[in-house]
Amino acid sequence: MNAITFDRSKAKFPIPEVATSFIAGRALPSDGTGERIPVICPATEELISTLREADAQEVDQAVMAAREAFAKGPWPRMSVDQRKKIMLQIKQILLDHADELAYLETMNAGISTNHVRNFHVPRMGFNFEFFAEVASQDSGAAYLQTKPYLSIVTREPIGVCALIGPWNAPLALCSMKIASAIAFGNTCVLKPSEFTPLSLLRVVELINQTDLPKGVVNLVNGRGQVTGDALISHPEVDVVSFTGGTTTGRAIASRAGQNLKPVALELGGKSANIVTASANMERALNGSLLAIYSNNGQQCLAGSRILVDRKIADEFVSKFVKRSEKIAVGDPLETKTEVGPLAYEAHMKRVLGYVDIARKEGAELLTGGGRHTEFNKGFYMQPTAVMAKSNDARVCREEIFGPFATFLVYDEIDEAIALANESEFGLVGYVWSEHLPTAMKVSQNVRAGTIWVNTPLTRELRAPFGGYKNSGIGRDSAEDCKMFFTEAKTTTIPLEDFPMAKWGA
Ligand code: NDP
Repeated sequence: MNAITFDRSKAKFPIPEVATSFIAGRALPSDGTGERIPVICPATEELISTLREADAQEVDQAVMAAREAFAKGPWPRMSVDQRKKIMLQIKQILLDHADELAYLETMNAGISTNHVRNFHVPRMGFNFEFFAEVASQDSGAAYLQTKPYLSIVTREPIGVCALIGPWNAPLALCSMKIASAIAFGNTCVLKPSEFTPLSLLRVVELINQTDLPKGVVNLVNGRGQVTGDALISHPEVDVVSFTGGTTTGRAIASRAGQNLKPVALELGGKSANIVTASANMERALNGSLLAIYSNNGQQCLAGSRILVDRKIADEFVSKFVKRSEKIAVGDPLETKTEVGPLAYEAHMKRVLGYVDIARKEGAELLTGGGRHTEFNKGFYMQPTAVMAKSNDARVCREEIFGPFATFLVYDEIDEAIALANESEFGLVGYVWSEHLPTAMKVSQNVRAGTIWVNTPLTRELRAPFGGYKNSGIGRDSAEDCKMFFTEAKTTTIPLEDFPMAKWGA
């Protein structure tokens, strides 16, 4: 692709010409070694920056900076109150730059600026406050049952954390990883997706302008196969936290397994959204549209398989289609935009490819199905919905990760539950019903990590989030993150003199 070069004088906030790594408190020079990878704005197809890829040597530099900060620096040794103060400084500096960070995210990932500014950026700030609080409330355990001993259990930071994130919501997802890792006294190296390096580079720069000691938060930019692989294979990395696709997750888990590193995997989904005959139709409609189309349809927790009770199917599907056709697709920088472009060209082609797959499988195209004709530039796709023939169809089984809804009709709630469970994934599930026993039946029988009843996409940070089956290993929550990012230590002390063998006496 021959991208048009972006006119920098048009930029609302500065965009770096070259995105490099950020190690031990400074950005690395743009003229170092490493592949040059174009960074494209998905809304205009302009070349907005160039990524200079970190090779294995540069990754080593980042990991060793994190190791040095962990082994000798003040961060793991500070009181939690001091750490909390710095975490709150981080929250503040990020929120002070909310517009700039939202702009960079929109320019690079194509997510509507409204969505980023109203949801992702506040959530990013809250992540630092939340995990500072969690760490400051931590307590250990004491065991007195085995006399005369007192055994106390404390938790210590685990060390250097490799954090690898996807391109669909870089600020919201990676800020959670950074906050939950460093709150417990760890240091880290973050690798964003090669497609979306810009917002997180600025986040790491800003974080390093606070009192956070240098080397605690480092960033390496580059492709997964090169930079990511070097990071997870590095012997000085103690733990790997990964969010991304299931295939990559498998590769990462096996590599981490060879090195005996604990790994947390937040992976893909093909979540069922069950609309029952007892649903409040208007709320179910609003929620179902948000569940599949928000974030341009690129979200792991999308309600992408909509299972509708036959008794209301005609009415629900026709209303859904009408509303899909009225969705404001357009420039993500415009505040009225609801759905922006897909994040990069190859991804758009992949998502569009599912329209052909659906047709070949005999699905009925209900709406959309093509590139948006209003735009001659940008990776815009029409909000799309199909009625599948059966749950065996690829559009029911595979994660499409775009504004693409797949419908199926069911007759009994048990059938809907069985369909929901006929999936390799188990990230989330949705149910719309005003009848509590029906909602509870779905909640108790659908095998997924989170079930939303009459609400879409609500995240409670205190509660576990993560997937059953191929949707991942491990959970995010206050407690789960503590367990993952710390090591347990038992210290045993006798409280009185006790008889001991006197060998050699
Ligand atoms: P990928 O799995 O392609 O990539 C995720 C990250 O891993 C990227 O930074 C990528 O780098 C990196 N990576 C790729 N290969 C390797 C490797 N061999 N070693 C180390 N790192 C590697 O996912 P996408 O970026 O395409 O994101 C979309 C996926 O993420 C979807 O499947 C979605 O469901 C999932 N996701 C899951 C969430 C959850 O919470 N469960 C939340 C959000 C997304 P690069 O891109 O530079 O190659």
